Amino acid sequence: MKVRDLIIIGAGPAGMSAGIYAARSALSPLIMESQMPGGQIAITDFIENYPAFPDGISGQELTKLMEEQCNNFNIEFMNFVQVDYVESENKIFKLKTNQGDFFAKTVIIATGASPVELGIPGEKEFKGRGVSYCATCDGPLFKGKDILVVGGGDSAVQEAIYLTKFVSSLKIVHRRDELRAVKMLQEKAFKNPKIDILWNSNLLEINGKDLVESAVIFNNKTNKKREIKIDGIFMYVGFKPNSFLVRDLVEMDKLGGIITDNKMRTSTAGLFAAGDVRNTPLRQVVTAVSDGAIAAINAEEYLEYENTG
Ligand code: NAP
Repeated sequence: MKVRDLIIIGAGPAGMSAGIYAARSALSPLIMESQMPGGQIAITDFIENYPAFPDGISGQELTKLMEEQCNNFNIEFMNFVQVDYVESENKIFKLKTNQGDFFAKTVIIATGASPVELGIPGEKEFKGRGVSYCATCDGPLFKGKDILVVGGGDSAVQEAIYLTKFVSSLKIVHRRDELRAVKMLQEKAFKNPKIDILWNSNLLEINGKDLVESAVIFNNKTNKKREIKIDGIFMYVGFKPNSFLVRDLVEMDKLGGIITDNKMRTSTAGLFAAGDVRNTPLRQVVTAVSDGAIAAINAEEYLEYENTG
C-alpha cells in the first residue's frame, strides 16, 4: 500500500495553489480532479479582479497559466478521477475513487462548489434543452434568442452581461428589488440595452415541448403570474459546497461549507480544506489561491510534527 504525504482533491485555483506550495516544500503532491483542471474559472468567461492582469483575463487562459505553473513544479495530476468518499484510520486517509483506493497522510479538499438548482417544475426535464447552469459552455447556442437569467448575485449579473454577446434579449429574474452583485457589475448591467430586470420576481415553472418555450413568472409584490415566451434559461441562484465526500470527517455549516480554522485545518487532524468548499466569507479566485497556500504550508507543518513527534 503506497501512502503519499499529500493528496489534493480538486484542481481549481485553490487546489493548484496548494499544489505549488506543497511542491516547493518537497511534498510531491498528487492532485486528483473529477474533470479537467480549472474548476469554476475554466467555465468563467472573464476575470477582471485577479491581480496582475490589468486588462482582465479569460477563465480558460488563467487556468492554462496555473496548470503550466504546476507542470513547471512537476506536480502529478490525475484528471477524471471521481473521489467518492474519504475515511481515516490510524492517521492515514483512504480515498475511495472510481479508480481504486488511494492513501495519504494528509489531504487538502479543494473541491469547490456546484450550482444550486431551483427545484421548480420543468427545470430537470429541460436541463440541456434550454435550461443551463453555464453561460460559457452554452451561451453560443442562444444566438439571436430571447433568454432569462435567474438570480441577482455576481454570477447572475456577470454571466448575463456575457450572454448579451449572443442573445437578442435577456431578462434577469430577481426575487428582490435590489441586486446582490457588486456595484460595478450592476452599473454595467443597467447600461446594457439588451438587459431588462424583472424585479421582485420568481421563476415558477418552465414549459415547452422538446425545448424550452415559455416560463411562468410570479411578481411577489403584485401577486400576479404571467407566462412569457422564452428560448432559454440560465440559473445562477448560488453554489453549494462539494463537501459530501468528507461528510463523516468534518464539521460543516448548515449549507455544507467545511468549517476550518485560520490554518485551513478541519475538525480532523491532517485534513485541510481550501477555497469555495470552505465556510468562507468571500468566494473569489484570490481567496481560493490564498486558502490553498495556507493549507499546503500547514499540511507540511503537520507532517513534520507527526514525523518528529
Ligand atoms: P450568491 O452571491 O449566493 O447569489 C445568489 C443569487 O441568487 C442571489 O441574488 C439570491 O437572491 C438568488 N437566489 C438564491 N436562492 C434563490 C431562490 N431560491 N430563488 C430565487 N433567487 C434565489 O451566488 P453567486 O452569484 O453564484 O456568487 C457566489 C460567490 O461567488 C459569491 O461570493 C460571489 O461574490 C462570488 N463570485 C464573484 C464573482 C466576481 O468577483 N466577479 C463572480 C461570480 C461569483 P438574494 O440576493 O435575494 O439572496
